[in-house]
Amino acid sequence: MPVPSNRLDLIYFKYKREFDEKAVSVLSSNRYILGPELEAFEREFAAASGARRCVGVACGLDALKIAMHVAGVGPGDEVIVQANTFIAGPLAVSANGATPVFVDVGEDFAMSPSETERAITPATKAVLVTHLFGLPTPMEPFVGLCEKHGLALIEDCAQAHGSKYKGRPVGTFGHAGCFSFYPTKTLGGFGDGGGIITDLDDLADRATVYRNYGSEKKYYNREQGVNSRLDELQAGLLRVKLKHFDELLAERAALAGRYLAGINNPLIRLPSPAPGSECAWHQFVIRCGTRDRLAQYLRDAGIGTEIHFPVPVHLSEAYKELLGRTGKLPVAERLAGEILSLPFFNGLTYDEQSRVIKALNAYQTDPTI
Ligand SMILES: *Cc1c(COP(=O)(O)O)cnc(C)c1O
Repeated sequence: MPVPSNRLDLIYFKYKREFDEKAVSVLSSNRYILGPELEAFEREFAAASGARRCVGVACGLDALKIAMHVAGVGPGDEVIVQANTFIAGPLAVSANGATPVFVDVGEDFAMSPSETERAITPATKAVLVTHLFGLPTPMEPFVGLCEKHGLALIEDCAQAHGSKYKGRPVGTFGHAGCFSFYPTKTLGGFGDGGGIITDLDDLADRATVYRNYGSEKKYYNREQGVNSRLDELQAGLLRVKLKHFDELLAERAALAGRYLAGINNPLIRLPSPAPGSECAWHQFVIRCGTRDRLAQYLRDAGIGTEIHFPVPVHLSEAYKELLGRTGKLPVAERLAGEILSLPFFNGLTYDEQSRVIKALNAYQTDPTI
């Protein structure tokens, strides 16, 4: 039996009765958009994330776009982003008419504070930090430099639901934290979804109006908004998952612990969360100098893997117009060639994990190649 890189249906089967009941209750409620399930989810997710407010939106990309919009990012502005992120962050910058300025990262995958500070210009409006793979980025330097330079600080938490740094949940260090509830995320729905958390009522109120056509009162439009709403069915189903989120995170922590304790091959480097952080593992990403051979070797052994992400965003086709301007970002570029995401999901069995560990420990670099 092959070991898949991911399975999305196992959590559904685990809590099937609760999901089914919730789905039927929403379907028969006569309320499908902007109703009581969304209101309850926003309240519960804000509380679970240590924030005062949550605004549900249609997807993670929209959470980023809308958070930047209400934080004042607009045409002519620059927003500093790390190169080893999902393209949604940079696209959200561009969608607001601003320019992403890509910076390098450290060996721990985290955005480099010194490179960020070096990239600040008079046009800089905001800094976007991504907590990649669930590994929390140490936030003090970013809070400090954003305060010093008067910049908005936005956190991309699409891979870090439940992660904490020095006891504080990610997404609460800056002005806004942006989440995705895409099915593969640690807190994933059964379709698209996203959310913005913030302690700032002004930002939350403006995002709430903006996501619904700029309308606070039906058919009276205060501004040119967008349609980006988290629907009742997704909100209701996410509430079911959120209720079990602590146990789902504990299972993920146990799976990560087992990989960390079991994988013992000098050719493979294991992930290591920053001191003081509590990592809500989203992906389990190892590094290997012969990554492509290792991926093929695992494929031959029936073990699925993924690469998150093979092309750093500054080298992506989508941003080729910025290529000359960005220059080389050596760490992000090297990491993209070394990273490999192992099978990692709620419901991964002991036996499946044992097979992955055994295969990894038996991997050798063939000296003849
Ligand atoms: C998934 C993801 C997003 C985008 O979320 P969508 O819901 O797919 O729009 C943004 N940032 C990061 C880091 C992600 O992993």
